[in-house]
Amino acid sequence: MRKEELLENLKSVEERIEAACDRAGRNREDVTLIAVSKTMPIEDLQVIYDAGIRQFGENKVQELTGKIETMPSDINWHMIGHLQRNKVKYIAGKVKMIHSVDSYRLAEEINIQAKKKGVIEPVLIEINAADEASKFGVRLDEAKQLCNEVASLDSVKIMGLMTIAPNVVVPEENREIFHKIKCLAVDIEKENIDNVDMSIISMGMTNDFEVAIEEGATHVRVGTAIFGKRNYNI
Ligand SMILES: *Cc1c(COP(=O)(O)O)cnc(C)c1O
Repeated sequence: MRKEELLENLKSVEERIEAACDRAGRNREDVTLIAVSKTMPIEDLQVIYDAGIRQFGENKVQELTGKIETMPSDINWHMIGHLQRNKVKYIAGKVKMIHSVDSYRLAEEINIQAKKKGVIEPVLIEINAADEASKFGVRLDEAKQLCNEVASLDSVKIMGLMTIAPNVVVPEENREIFHKIKCLAVDIEKENIDNVDMSIISMGMTNDFEVAIEEGATHVRVGTAIFGKRNYNI
């Protein structure tokens, strides 16, 4: 039962991604689906893995490292949640990308831990596009400066931008935010900063991933539409 439900959900998300790509005249291969599996049990992740998904997103270090140890080793893990500097050492070199770099001090710690492991850690700069008090990330007008600073760290590689758009009723309300993030990425790209790439734009969640794709998202982070509602009480 649960398995059928998950596969049905995944199929529906895939169809919606494809339709959004069609509307936007984009290739399906240019959009990566990250299955956001936070709070979900291993058995659920395994069903989605068996269906072919190799990108998973988690937002808590302890849960992430536990799942990395338990799940198959060919998974690309994405750290999408707020990251404290004292926890960087547990995930450096183990994740495909850290989506939530919002300060130079955090990037500096990632640089130290990546260097220790002999790797270059791909990261995204998190943008608080609507300047919400409840959200992490730098403001749109602070992003370029942070990119310039982080560019000097040789074991960290900026790959693009990430944003968590406001929780709105009508997804269309976030279109302008997504558009602003895309424009910012183009703008920073033009600066040709050494060691800064702007090829990845991580935006769009269950509520608004189709609009995000239409506005240029390369990575969508989808949890609820695949796994169902999360229960934080268990
Ligand atoms: C939980 C989470 C998601 C997925 O949210 P859904 O609305 O369940 O799709 C995406 N991005 C981040 C950063 C998250 O914490």
